[in-house]
Amino acid sequence: MIPSVLPTYNRAPLSFVKGEGAWLIEADGRRFLDLAAGIAVNALGHAHPALVKALSEQAENLWHVSNLYHIPQQQALADRLVEHSFADTVFFTNSGTESCELAVKMARKYFYEKGQPERVEIITFSGSFHGRSSAGISAAGSEKMTKGFGPMLPGFVHLTFGDLDGVTNAISDKTAAILIEPVQGEGGIRPVPDAELKALRQICDAHGLLLILDEVQCGVGRTGKLFAHEWAGITPDIMMVAKGIGGGFPLGAVLATEEAASGMTAGTHGSTYGGNPLGCAVGCAVMDHVSDPAFLAEVNRKAGLLRQKLEGLVASHPEVFEEVRGTGLMLGLKCVAPNIDVVNAGYDNEVVTVPAADNVIRLLPPLTLTDDDIDEAYARLDRAATAVAAKA
Ligand SMILES: *Cc1c(COP(=O)(O)O)cnc(C)c1O
Repeated sequence: MIPSVLPTYNRAPLSFVKGEGAWLIEADGRRFLDLAAGIAVNALGHAHPALVKALSEQAENLWHVSNLYHIPQQQALADRLVEHSFADTVFFTNSGTESCELAVKMARKYFYEKGQPERVEIITFSGSFHGRSSAGISAAGSEKMTKGFGPMLPGFVHLTFGDLDGVTNAISDKTAAILIEPVQGEGGIRPVPDAELKALRQICDAHGLLLILDEVQCGVGRTGKLFAHEWAGITPDIMMVAKGIGGGFPLGAVLATEEAASGMTAGTHGSTYGGNPLGCAVGCAVMDHVSDPAFLAEVNRKAGLLRQKLEGLVASHPEVFEEVRGTGLMLGLKCVAPNIDVVNAGYDNEVVTVPAADNVIRLLPPLTLTDDDIDEAYARLDRAATAVAAKA
């Protein structure tokens, strides 16, 4: 008999009932170190007092009104995002997938309004992940995500990750945009080198294309800059955000330049819940922390510490791990043993990690994790690796 929850996930036999900082408490009382953060969502950890306050104060006043009216919390969050990024304007969604939908629509509408309606194609890369909607899976294009789901949305050109020559060759008078994650998350924590992001920006400028960055996973302080593309010294035309921006409340956003957003006039797009007072009140509190240069300096310091420990871990368990990859607190351990075995051994040792493609386990801890938490992370992953090696 089918479970009452549609069985699209292979769930670990764990039920967490409470969270405190970088810790999750299981129904049986065990304390797990959370190096997953709800897949890069709980940027400020669990039950951060500022987020609890923002959400509960807003909950006592007003939950929802719809976008037929001005929403002061939405205005405040948009102002913060514009102040701290390349963007001139922001549309709020409830998820990364919805941000992908709008990013694609916005790019196509831009060219339509410019009198180039044939420019609809969007170049994407293997190993990418842009969400589970029809546009999201069509954009990513992997068989795993698309098989059995009928005709894919046309207008996506799939290239191999890292194939810059392929990009130039793929551009035609139908091309509208290039869509890429500055650091692939689901694809196995694969950073796009700064030089490559710069080259993509130049290609877009040379051909009059829009550069769309998917920072749903790598944005909002995760890499040690507010947005990952800042490391490369470039800016996109359109950027998708979600996950960390809500700190655990479902919230997403599309950020854009005035030019790229110029086709999106009144009536062309909408969302019932997007930008609701609850999500935006929390988002403001997240932004107030994450956009603080002192906070980001701490993320970078702790990222350096964690990375150093992980390099040691890999060196002492060559039969389990191959290398550390990633940037900031978006780290991956490329495994020699099956990554699922390492994740499961982590559960046995009360540390939570996330599997990714390419036989990688992802470490996406709360950005607020402490130095003690980092020591614990090492100790627990070390025990997990020892257990995996003993079984092999
Ligand atoms: C998670 C993710 C998405 C999809 O976000 P949802 O909130 O799950 O819809 C899109 N792009 C990237 C890079 C992601 O990591």
